[in-house]
This record gives sequence, C-alpha cells and structure tokens, in this order.
Amino acid sequence: MKEDGILPVEDETLEQGAAVAHYRKMYDRTSALAKIGVWECDLATEALTWTDGVYDLFELPRGSRIERADILEYYEEKSLREMERLRARAIREGGSFAIDIRIRTANGNDRWIRLTADVEQEDGKAVRIFGTKQDVTAEKLAQEKLQTLQARLIHVSRSSAMGVMAATLAHELNQPLGAISNYVAGTRRALYDPTRTSELVDWGLKAIQENADRAGEIIRSLRNSANGSAIRTQEIDPNPLIREAAALARAGVDRPAPVHFRLAEEVTIAVDPVQIQQVLINLIKNALEAVQGTDRLEVMVSSAIEGDLFEIRVDDSGPGIAPDMADRLFESFVSSKPGGMGVGLSISRTIAEAHGGAVVAGNRAEGGARFCLVLPLGGDDGDGETRA
Ligand code: ADP
Repeated sequence: MKEDGILPVEDETLEQGAAVAHYRKMYDRTSALAKIGVWECDLATEALTWTDGVYDLFELPRGSRIERADILEYYEEKSLREMERLRARAIREGGSFAIDIRIRTANGNDRWIRLTADVEQEDGKAVRIFGTKQDVTAEKLAQEKLQTLQARLIHVSRSSAMGVMAATLAHELNQPLGAISNYVAGTRRALYDPTRTSELVDWGLKAIQENADRAGEIIRSLRNSANGSAIRTQEIDPNPLIREAAALARAGVDRPAPVHFRLAEEVTIAVDPVQIQQVLINLIKNALEAVQGTDRLEVMVSSAIEGDLFEIRVDDSGPGIAPDMADRLFESFVSSKPGGMGVGLSISRTIAEAHGGAVVAGNRAEGGARFCLVLPLGGDDGDGETRA
C-alpha cells in the first residue's frame, strides 16, 4: 500500500489472482479426492468443456479439444440410450437429470460414472448443459458383489430349508407308515386265521386308519410351519398324549423295552398336540434305542410342575450321551447311529422353542441319559402333585 493510503489497482488484481489460485487448488484437490469433474456442453456447437477430472475419468489427455460426437463411442450401449432419452427430455422441457452409466475409457478400462446434468436456458430456449461426472466404479462393484452374495445366500438358505423339510417329513412319516405296514401284516394274518375273531380285524383296520390320519396331520402341521403359520395351540391334558407317544415310539423299535410312567395329574398345557407328541416320540424312541443291547432295559417317563414350567423327563439306563456327541446333539444330520438321520433332536428343539420352551439333555448320576422337554405353563395348571 502507498503512503497516501490509496490501494493501487495492480495490488488488488494480485490479491484477487492469489485468491483464484487458492480456490483453484482447493477445487483440484476436491475433484481428485472425489474423482469428480465438471463438464459443459454448448448445444449450438456441441463443443464440450471439461475440467481435468473428466479427462482423467475417460483417460483422455487433459485439455485436448473434444466434441460430443467424439465421446459417445465410450459409452456402453444401454447406458447411452437411457442417457440420450433423459437428455432429450431435459432439453425439451428444461430441468435436470442424473444417471449412472457405464463407459469404456480410451485405455479400455470399464468404469461406472454418475452423471448429473442441468439445462440452462436463454430466452426460453435451451442453450447449454452444465453438469458433473463422478467415478462410482468402487461403489457399483461393491453393490454388485453384495447382490451376488445376497442371491447366493437366499439360494443356500432355501435349499437348506428344503433339505431340512424333506428330512423332517421322511423322519416323521417313517413312524406312522411303519406302524401301518405292521398293522396290515397283523390284520392279514388275522383274516386267514379261523381262530381269530372279526373284532381283531376291525381293531387292526382302526389302527391303520388312525396311523394314516396321523401321517396326514404330520404333513398338515409341517405345511403350516413352512407357511409360517402360527402353531395351532390347544388346551390339553398332557398325560394321554405322553402315553400315546410312548406306544407310538415302541411301535417303531424292534423288541422295545417297557416304558414306565410317573406323571403329574390334573395339569393342563396349551400346545400344538401333534407337534409336542412328535417331540415325545423322538425322545422316547431315542431312549428305547439307547437301552437296546444293555442289561438293564429301563425307560421312565415322568412329569412335574417346576415353578411356572411343566417338565416332561425321559430317563433311560443306556450308556448315556457319548462325550463326542454332547456339543452336537441338536445339530441337524448329526447321528452316532448306523443309518441314523440325526434330525430328531433338532426338530424337537425347534418345536419346543416355537412353544416358548426347550429340550434339555444330560447324563444321570446313576447312569443313562435324561432328556427333558420344558414347556411354559399358562392359566390354571393344577396342584403339581406327582403320582408314583
Ligand atoms: P438319530 O436318532 O437319527 O441319531 P437324533 O437327533 O434323535 O438323531 O439324535 C442325535 C444323537 O443324539 C444320536 O445319534 C445319539 O448319539 C444322541 N442321543 C439321542 N438320544 C440319546 C440317548 N437317550 N442316549 C444317548 N445318546 C442319545
């Protein structure tokens, strides 16, 4: 500044020049960091003005003269069609648009760019388009990867759900179908045996009918759970259900051991009876299989109220849970038995949890295993006394 206090024109220009240079430097850094550039297209001449960021995106020499027609060949066909449609509408109607498009650069690299455009008008006529172009390749690749992973995950979970359902169906239907086959054989023998009465045939046919109905119920129940329908809860006395489960489990085992009961009386539980009976059949059948081949053939089913829970315990005098199975008992398709499917306990736990309960397993101090189905109690559940 001069002594007379008047700022010379040159100094002001210098200061302005420094400010412009500073802003320019900031703009360049922002562009490089965000991989973004600014473009402008003169609609009369189709001449393009690009900042360095756009040249870098297309991998073209910075500052080279370019016209719109020169760069269209870098756009992927579908992206180009869509961009031209939006551009024509914006020119016709005024306004702006944005689109993600694919390009192949001058060096042959594939990139995704996010293009924004704003049409400028003079005297109601479109004269220029101004906009930005940003490299969004990394974002798009991440999106594509995520979509592929999601599609794969959906496929895997669907096929594993289908596998579990098929195994569940095979496992659960095995029992009533086996029983039907046994009853048919018995009934046929009764038919040709003159010493057998017609009541015996009638009894056999009734048992066949019941097992066929049961198979139908199992399929219906599984279909409901596959549909995500809520479990069909009924208030029931659990004792007939438990006794019947034991009879059904015994029917599925060669030379089964007797099952003893010690059941709490006057208890009411709210459960889906078909599903809960399925759990009990699984637990009792496992216990009967565990004691086979041992000296003491003992299976005891007992029940009791514990606070606000109802427990049904299945105790056996078998070898107990093998140490290598202890952590994996409830995993699907894990079995220590030759020909075992290893789905019974996993299904049982799923059913128990759907009822707000659990299946708990452990070994008894006196030998053998204990599997306990724990269910929440609701309403008036009796006095909890047990009867030997
Ligand atoms: P699977 O009976 O087809 O093997 P489960 O899911 O019913 O399938 O049982 C898985 C495994 O749990 C069995 O193979 C067995 O090793 C173990 N297990 C189940 N019940 C008992 C039991 N009462 N005593 C000892 N081990 C048992």
